[in-house]
This record gives sequence, structure tokens and C-alpha cells, in this order.
Amino acid sequence: MASAAAGSSSSSSAYSNSPCAACKFLRRKCLPDCIFAPYFPPEEPQKFANVHKIFGASNVSKLLNEVLPHQREDAVNSLAYEAEARLKDPVYGCVGAISVLQRQVIRLQKELDATNAHLIRFAYTNNTTTTSSTDDSMMNNGGGYGSHHHPPPQGYSSGGAYYGNYNGGGNYSSWSGGMN
Ligand SMILES: [Zn+2]
Repeated sequence: MASAAAGSSSSSSAYSNSPCAACKFLRRKCLPDCIFAPYFPPEEPQKFANVHKIFGASNVSKLLNEVLPHQREDAVNSLAYEAEARLKDPVYGCVGAISVLQRQVIRLQKELDATNAHLIRFAYTNNTTTTSSTDDSMMNNGGGYGSHHHPPPQGYSSGGAYYGNYNGGGNYSSWSGGMN
């Protein structure tokens, strides 16, 4: 039973035969010590294309050589993230996403402050008044959002208007849609 010779002998690493995404893009030979190869696999051609378009291959190479080897993957990933954001938003790039998140933090901090102030006031009112009817009249006075640092003696209440205002900020959802 002479078996036919195997058509393809699997070499030790087929990976080394195919150039990395950077060298393929730049149409050059991918040498064993290629600085790009570990971070730009051939399966992800767009990653290098984006980074090259925004930062330039020589700048990326220089940057990688200035960074310690164990930090290069993080550096490449952040460059790829920044490049993708810049391509999607040529004006603000990833700064657009950062500022949206910063505004969201500020808004949520205000909401937290207001809720905490409301909780304190609610607990205070429950402890000092014996009749619940007083609570109800105070809760329905409405308004008051934004003055939580020095809430007036009466009328501090989140009410319905507060949540309406909060949900009205449609900027974030439109932004996140834009980033994708
Ligand atoms: Zn290469």
C-alpha cells in the first residue's frame, strides 16, 4: 500500500510566509524583525490602513521604537482607536467622544447631587413633621432642580419636570450613534 505523497507539507509556521498587514500595505518584504508584525496581523488590514492614513507609517515605526516592547501593543491599540475616531470624525476625532463623556459625568454628578440633597431633605422632613399631608404638599410644588446646593425651605422637589429635562438631552445618543 504505497500511499501517495502528501500534497502539502505543513511547514512549521505558515504565518511567517505571509507579510504583516503593514508590509503588505507598503508592498515591502516583511523581515523577521519587522517592528509592525506583532501588532498588525495580516487578518486586520484595515487597522494598519487607518493608522497609516492618520499618523503615517514612519511616525508609527518611530513611536514604537521609542516605547518599551511590553507597552507597544497598548500603544498600537490606542493609535488604532484614535485613527479610527479621526477618520469617522475629522474635526474632533476621539476628543469628541471624550468631551461627550465628560459632559455626561458632569450631568450625572449634578443628578447625584440633586438626588442626595432630595434624600436628605426627604429624611429631614419625615423626621420633623408628624403629619404626612405636609409632605405631600411639599412634594407637589415642583421645580427646584439646579438649586440643590441651597434648597429653599419650600418647594424643593424633583417632580416630573426634572426627569423630563434629563431625558431631553439627546446629544449623547446621537453622538454614540455617530461613533459607530
Ligand atoms: Zn512586516
